[in-house]
Amino acid sequence: MSFLSLQLSEPILKALTELGYTQPTPIQEKAIPVIMSGKNLIAAAQTGTGKTASFVLPILQLLNTDRKLRGKRVRALILVPTRELAVQVEKSIAAYGQHLELNSMAMYGGVDSSEQTQRLIWGIDILVATPGRLLDMANQRALHFDELEILVLDEADRMLDMGFVGDINKIIERLPEHRQNLLFSATISDEVRALAKRSINNPVEISI
Ligand code: AMP
Repeated sequence: MSFLSLQLSEPILKALTELGYTQPTPIQEKAIPVIMSGKNLIAAAQTGTGKTASFVLPILQLLNTDRKLRGKRVRALILVPTRELAVQVEKSIAAYGQHLELNSMAMYGGVDSSEQTQRLIWGIDILVATPGRLLDMANQRALHFDELEILVLDEADRMLDMGFVGDINKIIERLPEHRQNLLFSATISDEVRALAKRSINNPVEISI
C-alpha cells in the first residue's frame, strides 16, 4: 500500500516524500482511513510503530479546509502524558504539515504560562498538551473549546498511570458533544476501556 492510496492530499504527500517515508506502517494503513471517514477510534499500538503519524496525517487532512480559526479557540486537541511527548508530537505536526497553513503548539506545565497564553490569542489549529496545564489555561479562560472538532488521547495508559484521570474527565466535560474522538494506548487495560466508554461513542477498534 502507498500513502497515495490513503487519499492524502498533495502537500502532505510532498512532506512525506521529503522526510523519506516511502510506505505507511501497519497502524497507519489501518488507522488513517478510519480517521479520515470521521469515525471514532480506539487503537492499541506501541511507540515506535508510527502511531503518531497515524493520527497526525489524517488530522492535518481533515482540518485543511477553508474554515476560519477564531481567537482563543482550538480545533484539534491532543492530550499526552509528558512534556517530552508534547514537544515530540508537535514537531511531527510541524514536519508533516510544513506545506500547509495550519498552526500548532505544544503546551505543558513547569514553565511560565504567559508566552503560551499569548500564543493562544489568535487560536491554534492543533494543540498538543499535558492535561494539568491545559486545564489551568481553560480555567484562566485563555482557551475555549466551543470550536473543537477532534480529541486525541495519546498514550492513554500512561496518562492514567500518572494520575491524570480527574483532569482528563474535567477537560472532556468542557468539550462539545459533537466531536471526533481518537484514543491510542500501548495496552487497552480495564481502566483505559472505562475511560473510552465514558468519552467515546461507537469506536472502531484496531490493534497491531
Ligand atoms: P512513533 O511510533 O509515532 O513514535 O514513530 C516512530 C518513528 O517512525 C518516528 O521516528 C517516525 O518519524 C517514524 N515513522 C513513522 N511513520 C513512518 C513511515 N511510514 N515510514 C518511515 N518512518 C516512519
